[in-house]
Amino acid sequence: MNNFSYTTANTAKEATGARKDSAQSAFIAGGTTLLDLMKLNVEQHPQLVDINMVPFKGISETADGLRIGALERMSDVGENPLVVQQYPAISEALLLSASPQLRNMASIGGNLMQRTRCTYFRDTAFPCNKRNPGSGCPAQTGDNRGLAILGGSTACIATNPGDMAVALVALDAVVTLENSKGKQRRVSLLDFHLLPGTTPQRETILEADELIVAVTVPAAAHARKSHYVKVRDRASYAFALVSAAVGLDVQGGQIRSARIAMGSVGTKPWRALEAEKLLVGKPATEASFQAAAAAAVRGAAPREHNRFKVEMVQKAIVRAFQEITA
Ligand SMILES: Cc1cc2nc3c(=O)[nH]c(=O)nc-3n(C[C@H](O)[C@H](O)[C@H](O)COP(=O)(O)OP(=O)(O)OC[C@H]3O[C@@H](n4cnc5c(N)ncnc54)[C@H](O)[C@@H]3O)c2cc1C
Ligand code: SF4
Repeated sequence: MNNFSYTTANTAKEATGARKDSAQSAFIAGGTTLLDLMKLNVEQHPQLVDINMVPFKGISETADGLRIGALERMSDVGENPLVVQQYPAISEALLLSASPQLRNMASIGGNLMQRTRCTYFRDTAFPCNKRNPGSGCPAQTGDNRGLAILGGSTACIATNPGDMAVALVALDAVVTLENSKGKQRRVSLLDFHLLPGTTPQRETILEADELIVAVTVPAAAHARKSHYVKVRDRASYAFALVSAAVGLDVQGGQIRSARIAMGSVGTKPWRALEAEKLLVGKPATEASFQAAAAAAVRGAAPREHNRFKVEMVQKAIVRAFQEITA
């Protein structure tokens, strides 16, 4: 691990202003991803700015819906009664993530910024376009079992491995960002993560001088009746092989609105908008859910070792819908 200096900041302005070189230095929240990557020499940062004292806190109901400060911890959000009752998929996704110890440290902002678990990315002995642009992508023909079947390019097929972001994308979450001049902008989480295209090293729209302030999720009937299903190799403390976040508003047996997002199958948290439209006006039956699940994976481009994900994620979607309508 390289030497680095450590600075603390009390405000967003102090945090962005403290950085000597915004391209090289990094903000640290829980440190559960950042320090790992620095120890592996995947990331090198001569300066860390600790943002834990910046007042990006609070879990509250606002006119825009649920507002979660970026420095709230995963465990506090997952166990919050408002989140549990009104936005169950978010709570479930958080509590199925990582381990209790990690969830106590890890922040919501850091969670959205976590990087892929592609083994080639995390091992500097291998080339990797995301870590070292232009060096190649051994995953295309190598070990791609955990990687993407949707949204990949010839440059990169790494998945976004997060759980919470899948539930947030399904429920139309919006992220608030603030730059070094104090200017805020609000962006749909759907547009926050980028497809790899020819520049897989650029993963989000966040600029070097911006911080994530908060996440807002609109209150809705389909949010109250939402659910997250995670399928993994081990029952605990493992990233998803596939996951599904769904939401449903059913009246008189007919679907009024539906939400579907998938995790660990796309190069970003993957919303299945066309599949959702198919459900509107249909009866809430297994046949409807199966048709939507099939639509959700249309256009999938699996590789040698991850073909199983095409069927597995459809099953996860159907199971999630069945569990909320049972
Ligand atoms: C063993 C292990 C298992 C895990 N399993 C899972 C899992 O099953 N599911 C899952 O979803 N996740 C999992 N994770 C990932 C975990 O959720 C993330 O490590 C964590 O959420 C990151 O949050 P943090 O506060 O520690 O971020 P940090 O490590 O502090 O920061 C991560 C990145 O985010 C940036 N950052 C942090 N906060 C902000 C902000 N407010 N604005 C802008 N940039 C910011 C930092 O600069 C850094 O680049 C696992 C991690 C580990 C180590
Ligand atoms: S899939 Fe992406 S992260 Fe993995 S080796 Fe290829 S370029 Fe690197």
